[in-house]
Amino acid sequence: MSYDQARWSEDDQYEPLLSEKCTREVDVDAPLPDDLTRDSLELPAPSEPELARHYTRLSQMNYGVESGPFPLGSCTMKYNPKFTEDLAALPSASVHPDRHPGTVQGTLALMGRLSAYLAEIGGMDAVTLQPPAGAAGEYTGVLIARAYHEHNGEDRSEIVVPDSAHGTNFASAALAGFDVVELPSGEDGRVDPEALDAALSEDTAALMLTNPNTLGLFERDIEQIAEMVHEAGGLLYYDGANLNALLGRARPGDMGFDIMHYNVHKTFATPHGGGGPGAGPVGVVSDLEPFLPTPQVRETDDGSGQQGEPGSKYELHEPEHSIGKVHGFQGNWLVLVKAMAYIARLGDEGLTDASAKAVLNANYLAEGIDYEIPFGPFHHEFVASAGDQDAAAVAKRMLDYGVHPPTTKWPEIVDEALMTEPTEVENRRTLDQLAAAFDAVAAEDEETLDDAPQRTTARYIDQVTAAREPRLSWQALGEEGEE
Ligand SMILES: *Cc1c(COP(=O)(O)O)cnc(C)c1O
Repeated sequence: MSYDQARWSEDDQYEPLLSEKCTREVDVDAPLPDDLTRDSLELPAPSEPELARHYTRLSQMNYGVESGPFPLGSCTMKYNPKFTEDLAALPSASVHPDRHPGTVQGTLALMGRLSAYLAEIGGMDAVTLQPPAGAAGEYTGVLIARAYHEHNGEDRSEIVVPDSAHGTNFASAALAGFDVVELPSGEDGRVDPEALDAALSEDTAALMLTNPNTLGLFERDIEQIAEMVHEAGGLLYYDGANLNALLGRARPGDMGFDIMHYNVHKTFATPHGGGGPGAGPVGVVSDLEPFLPTPQVRETDDGSGQQGEPGSKYELHEPEHSIGKVHGFQGNWLVLVKAMAYIARLGDEGLTDASAKAVLNANYLAEGIDYEIPFGPFHHEFVASAGDQDAAAVAKRMLDYGVHPPTTKWPEIVDEALMTEPTEVENRRTLDQLAAAFDAVAAEDEETLDDAPQRTTARYIDQVTAAREPRLSWQALGEEGEE
């Protein structure tokens, strides 16, 4: 399969900066003291076509979810439909966050409905939309657990986290001041009830669990696990990053989970490449509702919201034992609008269909690849082993075949891990293309892998030098060494 990423300049290296292409001298006339201003300034002055071409070219020199499949396991990097962007771009979606609640009833209604949908999907009783990402949701959830235990006069200092968990679970627990107890996975890659029994104690504040876990495996003993945690007096926290495996089929609340976050940018809509923005709403069971961040939206019984104009139905209020605010205003609001649009458009059937396709696609792809997959049966993702090959080199080489590589070297339970999640949006032809790329790389020798990538715009990046001797200012090619 042949693939070549765009190269646009004569030396095949880079697209010139706008300031290299065209600049214009602009007079500066600022109401500031003379010694703080300059007389004139050189600014880029491209025409509109030049500008459009510049950014189109840059996008062609990069790999994104609109270039080809992006099977980054755990992250759920899927194509996101454009209608959600259209809705988020409506002028009525962008209200000033300081507006009086009585004048933004539609906005509050959307928040109330989205919270109710998420609660229904997760089997929770109440939801906060404030946390701006999954990791921030974890931190919020862990703070809620702490506030709950403290409220009950209990001093619980430990959070149990399986060794297959995402790094943010360990970080969130530690950041909130807990000691993290790492739980070794059982031989089948799942939680081992005996090991869990040893890890639980009267110090246990919570167990954080991803289900299906990062190997794509469903925790078959989840009811027993929930019972054990609750008997020890702890809470059960659900990391929702893999919720697209269960949508419409099983609910964390029904499994015994007390707190969960939703990575709406993974499960619902919103692209989250480049670090965001995302949203990580948190759901809780009714006992924990008084501890949610403030403010919460609620619907008034008689349509006479105290903060509203007469007749307004929705108001903001502070939960009784609120942990306070975890983000400005209502979090990443437009991301929430997109999630709402996606859920409303897909409906019950569409969401259930999404989880079916996520699982089918992962299993179809796994059948087609030569790398060994030590753990199964898996749901929406699997972790293959690159065996004798270096997983990082495999990843770089896959780019040469026009596909994005999977997540590599994690979780560590699998040697040279290739953690792969094709997602529900890919069709069979794309999955076959992805499998062909895996298999082509599996058959290659070390030298070829070491030289990869060959066909991308940017080749091997020297990350060590970049970290040790960073060059933080731009310089034109040929001016090396000058600041
Ligand atoms: C992505 C992910 C997180 C963190 O979520 P962000 O939204 O990226 O902050 C936590 N746990 C798992 C399993 C994940 O895949």
